[in-house]
Amino acid sequence: MTRIGASPASVLRRRARELREAGRAIIELSSGNLDFPTPEHVVAAAHAAAQRGDTRYTDVDGTPELKDAARASLKRHNDLTYARDEILISNGSTQALFNALLATVAPDDEVVVPAPYWAPYLDQVRLTGGAPVIMPCPQNNGFKLRAGDLAAAITPRTRWLILNNPVNPSGAVYCRAELADIAEVLLRHPDVWILCDGLYEHIVFDGLRAPTLVEVEPRLKPRTLIVSGIAKTYAMMGWRIGYAAGPATLIRAMINIQSQTTSCASSISQAAACAALNGPQDVVRERVSLLQTRRNLFVEMINGCDGLSCLPPEGTFYLLVRCAGVIGKRSPDGRQIGSDRDFAAYLLEHADLVVVAGEDFGLSPYIRVSFANPRELLEQAGQRLKRACAALKAAN
Ligand code: PMP
Repeated sequence: MTRIGASPASVLRRRARELREAGRAIIELSSGNLDFPTPEHVVAAAHAAAQRGDTRYTDVDGTPELKDAARASLKRHNDLTYARDEILISNGSTQALFNALLATVAPDDEVVVPAPYWAPYLDQVRLTGGAPVIMPCPQNNGFKLRAGDLAAAITPRTRWLILNNPVNPSGAVYCRAELADIAEVLLRHPDVWILCDGLYEHIVFDGLRAPTLVEVEPRLKPRTLIVSGIAKTYAMMGWRIGYAAGPATLIRAMINIQSQTTSCASSISQAAACAALNGPQDVVRERVSLLQTRRNLFVEMINGCDGLSCLPPEGTFYLLVRCAGVIGKRSPDGRQIGSDRDFAAYLLEHADLVVVAGEDFGLSPYIRVSFANPRELLEQAGQRLKRACAALKAAN
């Protein structure tokens, strides 16, 4: 247990709540929650399921209805065909990821994780006894893994590559050509499996798409696990439903793990997820377009802050803000900002803003801020950020 900690997002979420309860006017830019409500027809479907008596254990791997809804979604969006025994429904995509790693990673096996990364990838790998191999993907690579760097990272012990598209925290989106380059390397290494995390696949801007590796290179399908979910697409973070699609042998192993650990995902949430996946999708398009407007507003505000800069992300609802320009400065009370973590602490202390330090994503000096907040709140946050940056004094 000394090898892992609590996920950075969960720690900050709790801290923000505690400070708010203590009377501070906290603005939480750190959260993976969207401010939108779950669509009404989805809540109605959950209510109906509860009243109908869908309140029992389901099959470990999910209800046939939800598995079919996930299959239909994969067909509709990615033109990929999966059989029912190639699908697992889990308690959020977090559990699907962990099932897969626990089923396959032996002590000292390596898992390649591009950085910046979603932090739980690392600790999930460590919990299995495996070793994450972190591949830095700096801003001048668009925060994306380059095929050449992947080739250099692969060793005889490499089990998995984890590929998140769009990327949390940078909002980068891999296009088909970039995935084709990565696929070419992977074709040369038949023992490496690929974990494609597409949790934000529908939150992409400017008319872009975030393809999944298998649709670009179908020959990789027998060793690729797609993990996705409903949390971000339908603003259903707390309903805890995710799914995995991949080879039946792997899915079977994941089902066995799930049967011994959580039995199945919540029956009521599964009914709700069915309604989300099978129901009207215009609400998703409307919300993405609203997020795009907020993104533009927030990018502009942040670029107006002394020492900060960011580019508009192509997907997700996060901005990865470069804060090199504030490092080395001093706060009004004389403390030096030595790192992005210090800067995040300064913003919490002096501006009541909660942000995530780049260190938690494996790339510094950056902070991650979310724009899944109402416009008025973003405007307020932007003003506080500007004031906080202006109050910093250059060290002499
Ligand atoms: N992958 C990524 C990249 C994420 O950011 C998250 C949640 N923030 C997850 C997976 C897990 O999501 P969930 O378990 O809610 O489906």
